[in-house]
Parts: sequence; structure tokens; C-alpha cells
Amino acid sequence: MNTGQPSSDALAEPDARTRELATGLAVVQQRILAACATAGREPSEVHVIVVTKTYPAADVVRLAALGVRDVGESRDQEAGAKHRDVSAAVLPVGADRPPLRWHFIGRLQSNKARHVAGYADVVHSVDRLGLVDALDRGAAASGRRLDCLVQVSLDGDPTRGGTPVPQVPEVADRIAAAPHLGLAGVMAVAPLGVDPRAAFAALREVSERLRQVHPAAVMISAGMSGDLEAAVTEGATHLRVGSAVLGPRPPLG
Ligand SMILES: *Cc1c(COP(=O)(O)O)cnc(C)c1O
Repeated sequence: MNTGQPSSDALAEPDARTRELATGLAVVQQRILAACATAGREPSEVHVIVVTKTYPAADVVRLAALGVRDVGESRDQEAGAKHRDVSAAVLPVGADRPPLRWHFIGRLQSNKARHVAGYADVVHSVDRLGLVDALDRGAAASGRRLDCLVQVSLDGDPTRGGTPVPQVPEVADRIAAAPHLGLAGVMAVAPLGVDPRAAFAALREVSERLRQVHPAAVMISAGMSGDLEAAVTEGATHLRVGSAVLGPRPPLG
């Protein structure tokens, strides 16, 4: 797991919220260890992205002090502001304080792509050709390189985002050919009312086919607080875990 060891200043005088977050991280780590043991997987193959949407920048700073290196956000306006506040707060960036990696995991309109390309390191929700082009232009404009995952729609329901399975190669090829983007793998959200393990097994098959053409596209982003065990069982490399670490969120308005 990539949640790391607490840094010394986190051990100095953690506030009540930091202790709560540390407990949440520990519970999630135990769940992952147990799922890896059952599945016969190495825990070092499974990375946690802590999804901090709706929670304040102060929580991201606390998580960074606890050793978290990967955070996920799903709305551009909120994510951009938080990235700015956290970048100002988490200093200095040194050998024992590597920078956070920001994962954009929400549905993304093409007109927001340029902004997201300015702060995100990885975009998990790339699901159409126009968005690939917009992200590439945005990355070029800010002199950055972005890792991209093809978000796969496992039930073909267009309202939830994601590329229908037959179109995955086309979107993947476009990312791989884009000068400022890297094709890192695939992502999915288990469809409602479906056995998550069956859904993640389908995602694993999509990933296997993709890797025959793009061997470096090894990331499988799958599994959230409620279904991370199923995702570990079916080969996920990255789990996107929010409420199990930070607490229940108010419903998105
Ligand atoms: C919010 C969100 C998560 C985290 O969900 P939890 O149930 O809080 O763990 C994961 N993936 C995506 C795409 C999300 O929007």
C-alpha cells in the first residue's frame, strides 16, 4: 500500500481529526491486507487513493502528514481551489515529504479540461475522443504531462460516464498518440444493482485486452469504500476510497 509511514511531525501532536483520519486509514489498510491474503496478492501491488471531495484542504494536509501521497477529487472548482490551498500549506517538499499526486476521478466537461490539466497528475475519467484532445491541449498549455485512464462503462449507461467497452481501444489509442498525455490504464465504477465482483472481473478483461496493445497501461482503478474487497480480488491496482477514511459525506447537492 502507498499510505506510507506517519512522518515525525504528524506524531508530534495530532489533533482529534488527525487521529480520526489515522484510524480510518488503518481500518482500510486492514481490509486491504485481509483481501490480499484471501486473493493471494501482494499488498504492495494495491495503492490507495484517498478521495477527499467535500472535505476541506485542512484534511488533505492532515492526510499528507499521515503519509498519504495520492488524493482524489471529482469536481473541478473544488479540486482546483483545494490544490492551491494545499500546495501553499504542505511545505517544504523534500526527500521525506514528496509531493501529493492529484487524481481527478469525476465526470469532466471538455471546457473544464484545460483547468484540470493545470493541477491534476492523473485523470481517471477519460471517456471520449473530444475530452482526450481537450486534455492534451490543456496539458500543452501548462507545460505538463498527464497520465490518463480510460473510464469504462460496464453497463453501457451513458448517464454515469464511461466509454462503452467496444469503444475503449479507440479512446485508448487517441490518448497514447497524444503528445502530452500518457495512457496509464483503465477505471470503472461498479454499476448499481450489479455484483461488484462480476463488474470488476469484466474490467480486468478489458485491461488484459488493452495491455496486449499498450503494455504500459497497467493501472486498474476500481473499488470504493463499499466494494474494495471485490476490486482487490479482481486485480485492482488502485482503490479510490473516500468515506471509509474521512467519514460519511453529505449527499452531493
Ligand atoms: C466519491 C467517489 C469515490 C469514493 O467513494 P467512497 O464510497 O466514499 O469511498 C470513488 N470513485 C469515484 C468516481 C467517486 O466519485
